[in-house]
Amino acid sequence: MRFTPTQLGDAELELQREVRAFLAQELPPGSHQPGLGMSARADRAFSAKMAERGWVGMSLPKQWGGSDRSAVDRFIVVEEMLRWGAPVGHHWVADRQTGNVILKFGTDEQRKRFLPAICRGELGFSIGMSEPDSGSDLASVSMRAERGDGGWIVNGTKIWTSGAHQNDWFICLLRTHPLEEGGSKHQGLSQMLVDLNSPGLDIGPIPFLNGEHHFNEVAFTDVFVPDENVVGEPGMGWNQNTAEMAYERGGPDRWLSPFSTVEQLLREVEGTEMEQRACELFGELTARWWALRNLSLSVARLIDEGEAPSVESALVKEMGTRFELEVIEKLVEFVDEELTPDADSLFHRLLAECVLTGPGNTIRGGTIEILRSVAAKGLEGLPA
Ligand SMILES: Cc1cc2nc3c(=O)[nH]c(=O)nc-3n(C[C@H](O)[C@H](O)[C@H](O)COP(=O)(O)OP(=O)(O)OC[C@H]3O[C@@H](n4cnc5c(N)ncnc54)[C@H](O)[C@@H]3O)c2cc1C
Repeated sequence: MRFTPTQLGDAELELQREVRAFLAQELPPGSHQPGLGMSARADRAFSAKMAERGWVGMSLPKQWGGSDRSAVDRFIVVEEMLRWGAPVGHHWVADRQTGNVILKFGTDEQRKRFLPAICRGELGFSIGMSEPDSGSDLASVSMRAERGDGGWIVNGTKIWTSGAHQNDWFICLLRTHPLEEGGSKHQGLSQMLVDLNSPGLDIGPIPFLNGEHHFNEVAFTDVFVPDENVVGEPGMGWNQNTAEMAYERGGPDRWLSPFSTVEQLLREVEGTEMEQRACELFGELTARWWALRNLSLSVARLIDEGEAPSVESALVKEMGTRFELEVIEKLVEFVDEELTPDADSLFHRLLAECVLTGPGNTIRGGTIEILRSVAAKGLEGLPA
């Protein structure tokens, strides 16, 4: 395992100052309802403002509209945005992973078509991995794409699709070659880019416990996907998807979700009898956050060295999302009454949302058990 201690250099600290100044000007505390990390609101105008600064798709090459910046630079921008609870939801998936997948496995036509628009903050992507009978065991996806004239005809249902009702595109893992008897289920899968406005797509909400609309079930009835929207070699989607998961885990989004809630607690208890207790908790949490941040930052350094640190990323997500739940448990001790999403106190409102969404963070992008399994296999040198 390669968690090498690292620190930010002068240019990186300068970028951090720049992002902080931008946020203080655009979203001064009190002017907006902070989001919980990557679950923040989708705001196309805010994404466009970030893009103007070169902070969306920033590690993509200049040739395709990016800024040729490092993974550590992206880490710095993302850390500040999430800490602040900024509304990064619209470009989140495209910036974190889809742009990288298209760069790595796509054709030049696909790069030209999608990457500059991603870097302008225009395109929102959803992830189409899970199906009603495929979650952790992702290779068991059974949704079929059959060969058609100039493309593929897709039928079936994807589930738990975050943001499909708001986004523009959907990157789906589909079975393009039937599973042969005795064959590996990892073969015969392909990744396809599907326009979320395609005829035959039916996007229906799966309401959250509090009635909010985050997830969707996306039903495909004879949806046509042209050949030019297949990413990489048909049948090789499993390896591409595994590479995508390495971008999905290990970043600040896996340990910063309740940060804005902790900050709001500190604001609200200032000058009250709870202030001392809250400061002690903040000290304890800061020490734990510092450790996680260093692990996560070292993952970004490894990516900049051309590595694919899937074991390290899995461990950061495992530890980070468990820590987030501990933070929420400790925050709940500061509240005597029942938590409601329409409380007067912003701290109570944010905490109510944390209680609701915290457990999901340990599930999305790989459950705790699956991450431990990835790490254990990786340490033993076994395939994921
Ligand atoms: C907030 C949120 C957002 C999501 N967004 C998306 C999205 O945008 N796109 C998308 O495709 N999916 C999304 N998902 C779905 C998510 O990826 C799946 O829920 C997840 O992969 C788990 O699959 P499952 O729900 O089918 O649970 P299962 O796979 O059925 O697992 C059930 C339990 O069994 C355990 N388990 C399963 N297999 C093993 C094993 N081999 N060893 C040990 N334990 C095991 C699991 O850890 C879990 O505790 C989202 C989920 C959440 C909570």
